[in-house]
Amino acid sequence: LAPLLQIERLKVYFSIRKGIFSRIAGHVRAVDDISLDIFEGETLGLVGESGCGKSTIGRAIVRLEEPQEGRIVFRNADITHRSLRQLKPLRTKLQMIFQDPYSSLNPRKRIYDILAEPLAAHRIAAKADLQRRVNRLLDMVGLPSAYQNRYPHELSGGQRQRIGIARAISLEPSLIVCDEPVSALDVSIQAQILNLLSDLQKELKLTYVFIAHGIGAVNYISTRIAVMYLGKIVEVGSRDELFRNPKHPYTKILLDAYPAPDPTKRSKQRIIVEGDVPNSANPPQGCRFHTRCPYVQERCRREEPQLGNSGHAAACHFPLG
Ligand code: SF4
Ligand code: MG
Repeated sequence: LAPLLQIERLKVYFSIRKGIFSRIAGHVRAVDDISLDIFEGETLGLVGESGCGKSTIGRAIVRLEEPQEGRIVFRNADITHRSLRQLKPLRTKLQMIFQDPYSSLNPRKRIYDILAEPLAAHRIAAKADLQRRVNRLLDMVGLPSAYQNRYPHELSGGQRQRIGIARAISLEPSLIVCDEPVSALDVSIQAQILNLLSDLQKELKLTYVFIAHGIGAVNYISTRIAVMYLGKIVEVGSRDELFRNPKHPYTKILLDAYPAPDPTKRSKQRIIVEGDVPNSANPPQGCRFHTRCPYVQERCRREEPQLGNSGHAAACHFPLG
């Protein structure tokens, strides 16, 4: 089974500029040599602390970020360096839902225009059909059709995220990158939005890349999970495998930080992580996690562990379990 999307040895670096002549003083290695396959119909959870590069991967997938190296292959077509015009038919297939729906919705436009304009621009619907399509989209995300006359500021946070979702599904995508779609919302609203996303996934046969900094939301919605640390994937596996048998010390730490509903079910040997996240402009030699890892040994400081390509893989010289 060929993956829907293949990320091959992807590198996305950002220049750090300093001084009055904007001299390049270094590079933030936001995504540093990452390979990942995403399969049709799955939800791949991408989890890690802020600054680990997870949003940058998401933005590279939908071509909001240009990689320095590596390839992105969608349905066997290399889309890495295509221009926006060449990409136009493909772009509709790769959509994104943002963390803050307010800043991603034009405040001066009514909901009708926010939803109808992309449909017209991409010739998804004929002019005569736009009204019916907008009604249908609002219905699909659980909003009354009267809301199309409102402006974004007249909606609650959860309602605005429903509009963000409606806009993403309107172009009939195959894959949606959901970048922390519930982290800005009240806890009471989060489950509703996650349920909506998983209902739409079934109905529309969508594939999701679901980005989060905590393992909670990822646990709820993902079928597979990739854990990131300082621009690298440190562990990848099915959700159940990863929860049952985390192999990388960092994954274990993330799981321990996630409050289990039943405290007696929590891991007895909690490991404590010390120190701040190092700078990704100048990541530690060897294993990037070695400055914080409770199991660090001499080899870890010298030699960078590789992820490998088994179904459940960890980039660690001394995996747990
Ligand atoms: Fe810890 Fe060493 Fe494994 Fe890195 S390679 S996670 S430092 S045990
Ligand atoms: Mg982010």
